[in-house]
Amino acid sequence: FAESLYAERGVEWLIGAHVEKVEEGKLTYELLDGSKGEEEFDFSMLIPPFAGVGLKAYDKAGEDITSTIFAPNGFMKVDANYNAGAYENWKAADWPRTYQNPSYSNMFAAGIAFAPPHLISKPMSSPNGTPINPTPPRTGMPAGIIGKAVAHSVTSLMQDGANAHIHEASMAEMGAACVASAGKGLTTGTAAAMTVFPVVPDFQTYPGTGRDTDYTFGEIGLAGHWIKHILHYMFIHKAQLKPGWTLIPE
Ligand SMILES: Cc1cc2nc3c(=O)[nH]c(=O)nc-3n(C[C@H](O)[C@H](O)[C@H](O)COP(=O)(O)OP(=O)(O)OC[C@H]3O[C@@H](n4cnc5c(N)ncnc54)[C@H](O)[C@@H]3O)c2cc1C
Repeated sequence: FAESLYAERGVEWLIGAHVEKVEEGKLTYELLDGSKGEEEFDFSMLIPPFAGVGLKAYDKAGEDITSTIFAPNGFMKVDANYNAGAYENWKAADWPRTYQNPSYSNMFAAGIAFAPPHLISKPMSSPNGTPINPTPPRTGMPAGIIGKAVAHSVTSLMQDGANAHIHEASMAEMGAACVASAGKGLTTGTAAAMTVFPVVPDFQTYPGTGRDTDYTFGEIGLAGHWIKHILHYMFIHKAQLKPGWTLIPE
């Protein structure tokens, strides 16, 4: 969608680019083929490298346990396989299911906060050695589903103690939907509505694309805009815990 929408609006685009330097109204970038270029701008939005907030952790004795709790990227370690090694060895099963810290069973990292086992897409770098990778799709719907599973686990830990039921929600087994607005208006609006299943590709179950193509599709049009509009009110209703909020999915 993105490329056809840009083309229709006369917007030029670059992909597979690493921003090297930002100056007043100008940035320098490097492409996957190692070539460099400059782009001028009036407005820009730079998304910073994907990392945790950099919390420090100490045990009761005051010992620094930051490296036990958090991965070097600042996200919390959970029940993921952090020793998968090279891309060829990556599996859907590397992805966490319970989001429980392996050292402290009373600590969970839901949504965006957990340390992923590795990238989702195949790692890429330019001939100069600059890593240039797509950002993983750690979006709202998986974050909501994971948050719900963790909330149930914490509730069960409080109520059932040692017999607690720890709930599971692997991003390699769940689907996600995304509706991206491209213009509002009751009769003139457009939005791209997409679904992907599973969020993390599983090349063993779905050889080739890693995804179930019956559940991975997208369409752009007026219906997408209406869906986005309806979801807007539904999610605000849910966030305000108004009657029937539990019936509205994440
Ligand atoms: C620019 C942008 C656009 C996006 N667009 C979309 C989109 O269109 N669709 C989509 O599905 N997803 C989108 N996402 C991703 C989505 O917003 C996140 O995946 C989702 O919000 C993660 O939810 P979360 O609850 O895990 O974390 P967050 O929403 O980040 O919530 C964490 C909360 O913890 C609070 N917090 C942090 N530290 C502390 C502390 N010490 N004490 C107390 N509170 C603290 C923060 O203030 C924050 O409110 C977008 C993200 C960005 C950055």
